[in-house]
Amino acid sequence: MRVERKQSVVLVPFLLQGHLTPMLQLGSILHSQGFSVIVAHTQHNAPNYTNHPQFVFHSMDDGLQGIDMSFPSLENIYDLNENCKAPLRNYLVSMMEEEEEEEGDQLACIVYDNVMLFVDDVATQLRLPSIVLRTYSAAYLHSMLTILQQPEKYFPFEDSQLLDPLPELHPLRFKDIPITTVNNTVQAPLLEFSRSMCDVGSSVATIWNTMQDLENSLLLRLQEHYKVPFFPIGPFHKMVPVASSTSILQEDNSCIDWLDRQAPDSVLYVSLGSLVRIDDKELIETAWGLANSEQPFLWVIRPGSVYGFQCAEALPDGYEEMVGERGRIVKWAPQKQVLAHPAVAGFFTHCGWNSTLESILEEVPLICRPFLADQPVNARYLSQIYKAGFELEAIERTVIDKTIRKLMLSEEGKDVKKRVVDMKQNIVAAMQIDGTSHKNLNDLVDFISALPSRLAPPTPVVEQS
Ligand code: UDP
Repeated sequence: MRVERKQSVVLVPFLLQGHLTPMLQLGSILHSQGFSVIVAHTQHNAPNYTNHPQFVFHSMDDGLQGIDMSFPSLENIYDLNENCKAPLRNYLVSMMEEEEEEEGDQLACIVYDNVMLFVDDVATQLRLPSIVLRTYSAAYLHSMLTILQQPEKYFPFEDSQLLDPLPELHPLRFKDIPITTVNNTVQAPLLEFSRSMCDVGSSVATIWNTMQDLENSLLLRLQEHYKVPFFPIGPFHKMVPVASSTSILQEDNSCIDWLDRQAPDSVLYVSLGSLVRIDDKELIETAWGLANSEQPFLWVIRPGSVYGFQCAEALPDGYEEMVGERGRIVKWAPQKQVLAHPAVAGFFTHCGWNSTLESILEEVPLICRPFLADQPVNARYLSQIYKAGFELEAIERTVIDKTIRKLMLSEEGKDVKKRVVDMKQNIVAAMQIDGTSHKNLNDLVDFISALPSRLAPPTPVVEQS
């Protein structure tokens, strides 16, 4: 407990699982440092309040009732931003009134996910300090920023260039560009949104779910661009004093009993996260790749994750009977528990940042099958720079089978395992009392505690006569 006067922090997460989880984890970290924590969330994907009795929750009317937000479009995201503006503003005003009457805690700042762009406007209007949360790697933001500074250097490109290196962005190739393209070019609205997301507006600092020990040079390069202080205090899921479930979907815990029956270091865990969708052809190739590899596997097939199908009914007829006890398929797993299980030896992943950190911290090497956004960047760093995993070269059963065997059975597989163990040790060092994440957290607490309760009004621009 480092804060003497009770100060509160309002957190505004974005509704996707991969964004909600780190924000709630950050809430737990800040709460353990003596702040009271208020989570102002959208109605879609509201967190489970009972898992976080230490927080106050405030539900904002997002105005998107009846809209499928499992894979939000740009339009959905802008609507969400517009619709949440008044609810957040009104809520903060009422908090400020209570504070003036000395009834509530002192509102120290707002921490928001950088997809919730509107928070910057609201905070500026009310002259409240705000801080941006980056839920992804510095490598991803660095690549975005570089591309956004000179998009004409990157777009449009030819199919023949897909494997060519990107200028100034080693180890990325055109194929790994983290902005969704249409006909190998980027659409203007997406470019504009990406710029806003990378921007810090009038925020006074940035919190990162990453570690200096892993990404120091990239953080330093980014720091030259952003003038506000950075606080890399990851990995959040290990920095939290007490872990509580942040899952939106119901976890199927029965797979832990199945893992208990498997030999140590024998199982491949397969999951593509909360957002990615695949076609039935990819599902079938993956199914045969897993079966032919003859390795035990635990496979998450999320409902709605295969285009045109509800769930696992796109699998070949009789598939589950054929693999029998050697394979287990679930709709959603308690992933952190799975990765920590002694039976798990590898992770076939889409390389979302949370999954990446969770895997490394449990010393589990990866097979990288990225799709979009930060995933291709993470996959390239994991396979080419950190050498903590293998990239899947093609979505074909023979290649999948071969890559699984390479990870689980070969000398090369042992090498990547060693690299992951080393990476984990460095990250654990960052979390120790004299480590960088620990120190940065202390600095963050001091920084928030010392923030002025209201920012000075902007200096009026004087017209030159
Ligand atoms: N996750 C889970 N169970 C699953 C699959 C994923 O609990 O069956 C969690 C996982 O632990 C991680 C999050 O969902 O914390 C996914 O976040 P990530 O950044 O890896 O990918 P995204 O879902 O955003 O693409």
